[in-house]
Amino acid sequence: MRIQSIEVYQRHLPYAGGVYRLSGGRTYETFDATFVRITTGCGLEGWGESTPFGSTYIAAHGRGVRAGIEEIAGHLIGLDPRHLDRINEVMDQALAGHLHAKAPIDIACWDVFGKAVDMTVADLLGGGTGERLPTISSVYAGDPEDMRGRVANFRAGGYRGHSIKVGASQSEGGPMLDAERIMACLADREPGEFFLVDANGGLTVEHALRMLRVLPRDEDFVLEAPCATFRECASLRRRTDVPIIMDELATDDASIAQIIADDAADGIGLKITKSGGLTRGRRQRDICLAAGLPMSVQDTTGSEIAFAAIVQLGATVPGRYLNCVLDCRDVFSVETAYFDAPVKDGGVLPPNLPGLGVTVDQEVMGEPVAVYG
Ligand SMILES: [Mg+2]
Repeated sequence: MRIQSIEVYQRHLPYAGGVYRLSGGRTYETFDATFVRITTGCGLEGWGESTPFGSTYIAAHGRGVRAGIEEIAGHLIGLDPRHLDRINEVMDQALAGHLHAKAPIDIACWDVFGKAVDMTVADLLGGGTGERLPTISSVYAGDPEDMRGRVANFRAGGYRGHSIKVGASQSEGGPMLDAERIMACLADREPGEFFLVDANGGLTVEHALRMLRVLPRDEDFVLEAPCATFRECASLRRRTDVPIIMDELATDDASIAQIIADDAADGIGLKITKSGGLTRGRRQRDICLAAGLPMSVQDTTGSEIAFAAIVQLGATVPGRYLNCVLDCRDVFSVETAYFDAPVKDGGVLPPNLPGLGVTVDQEVMGEPVAVYG
């Protein structure tokens, strides 16, 4: 089996909730999404997606994804898409870094592989546990009571986990406003719910300590990505017993290995395009399992195709190590594919369909912006 062509599609995906607000005054209204379709000589096709969370979230952006693919794609024509480690070696030889550009190609190859052998990608990654994957919402930073209302809406929609965004500037209200946001979001908690307070690297150590000091000691949550650098996170970790999760700083195999070596975190936010795709995501899953680190399987946002990859990898993580998967489907007002994984009983299951299990809406994709092969 050989890769015959690689097509690239691009869409701006509007945020369904208006304006999404992160720490540091960052706002987002639309997201630049890139999709890859790989076609083989025997007529199979596979899809992958890479949608960075704007240009100010991590070192990735939409036009960079497509420029990276341009560097890589020609080297992959004629290769066997099922040989995922070899595909990734060739991509690394063609372009250093830029994992977010390699991810959609890697994911599309896994989709082809599954269809070639009539197995789900979760089967190929080791097999699904059969347990429902608890889904986590994404609650952008805002007025505390408004955030509480949005948590309630997600709860009514079946979500068991909630990612609460914090990181107020001093003029907005600083650490006290963030503490109020956390209290409001946790006020109506139900048994079994999981709360993750996510600053996306936006707090100073001083801000984080002040925020934590004014909260009651018995509130149950984990603190994700409190600060922008390893040094700050390590300093904070020495001075709080709140569990700390690494996300933006856990960028690749080496950084996760370093986090484990330094005992720098209690869990990892494993985002598939940040990781470079499912091949590296699988390895990072296994590094975390070997170290006993729980993970949430997510992405830097994305549509149904990205969510399918999340579900396929998330399904293979034993339940006690899986905090949640990010359900990014409600983030956008555009549906790029049909993916039959409704939220039921607090979670989702991968559909029993070969590959990623998606049926892509070719009309939504439109015409390719680049074709290789
Ligand atoms: Mg995060």
